[in-house]
Amino acid sequence: MFQTTAAVLRSTAAPLSIETIEVEAPRDDEVLVKVTASGICHTDLGVIATAEEGQLPIILGHEGSGVVEQVGAAVTDVAVGDHVVLSYAYCGVCTNCKSGTLVHCRDFMALNFGGARADGTTAYRAVGEPIHGHFFGQSSWSGRLITTPRNIVKVDPGLPLELLGPLGCGIQTGAGAVLNTLNPAPGSSLVVFAAGSVGLSAIMAAKVAGCSIIIAVDPQQSRRDLALELGATHAIDPTQENPVEAITGITDGGADYSVDCIGFPAVVRQALECLASPGVCATVGFQGGENEITINQGHLLFGRSLVGVIEGDVDPHEFIPRMISLFQEGKFPIDRLMQVFPLAEINEAIDAAHHGKVTKAVVRFPS
Ligand SMILES: [Zn+2]
Ligand SMILES: [Zn+2]
Repeated sequence: MFQTTAAVLRSTAAPLSIETIEVEAPRDDEVLVKVTASGICHTDLGVIATAEEGQLPIILGHEGSGVVEQVGAAVTDVAVGDHVVLSYAYCGVCTNCKSGTLVHCRDFMALNFGGARADGTTAYRAVGEPIHGHFFGQSSWSGRLITTPRNIVKVDPGLPLELLGPLGCGIQTGAGAVLNTLNPAPGSSLVVFAAGSVGLSAIMAAKVAGCSIIIAVDPQQSRRDLALELGATHAIDPTQENPVEAITGITDGGADYSVDCIGFPAVVRQALECLASPGVCATVGFQGGENEITINQGHLLFGRSLVGVIEGDVDPHEFIPRMISLFQEGKFPIDRLMQVFPLAEINEAIDAAHHGKVTKAVVRFPS
């Protein structure tokens, strides 16, 4: 048993409580990680807003980075002292995992949102009571966490570890949608709706891909400004002009690609309607399991498509090192997205993320 400090969600009506908790030693197939830092993602905010009584108390957080502190007897590919970035959980043995589409693991929901290991147990305890955890196989708002080798991507110890956690969710979501799913040809045009951390990652990726027209659509001036600094060639304020008309004008008839990073029905529709024929729209924004949209089939018919993308549809073991290489080459400046808060200010960080005052809030744990 190990002791650590964690931010625990005990009520949707109260701030997270920062507590001393106990973490079990890793089982044979598990890894204990001492957390350096963790991002705050909108999926965390969604659970904070909607968690039901039976899910509480729980430790959230799923953009963790840290150092391996102990490994189970059966773990061979991860060692004590390794610097690691954590990503989503998958089983590794179902048909989709075996075919390499890890994000479509048949147990994805249970393993990432179940609040427990696959067998229903939890490695986390407060005084006298179990705490739900294993969120995305991580629960990285705990100073120590139990995860599996499948969640782990090893990184060079010379890298700034506290900035790397968001590569495992928000940043790979935006960058993967562009570089992996859409894979735009050099010289093509691409529009990003909503320039938060996911959208800005998509914009940086579009620049890496060599898109010649990159358009950011966002109502917030500071985000449009940052989008232009990070690679956007144009920025549109949707409260001032009709994005579809503006994009059609800039691209001489419609964009080749679009990425919706918010999931509002009206925005998904705009992201489709701004497309040329042919054209592809990737929707990555999450607005809950039931989120009906209306689209114009007569418009879609002319070679346009709409594809849903979770976690950038990436294998983190391949894609996180690719993003890190681009970061080291100066082509993917993720540090421009981040603001680091100490753990003691996690509730302020959550509030700042919720109100869009920061692009990507990262919480640093005491060393
Ligand atoms: Zn996330
Ligand atoms: Zn699986």
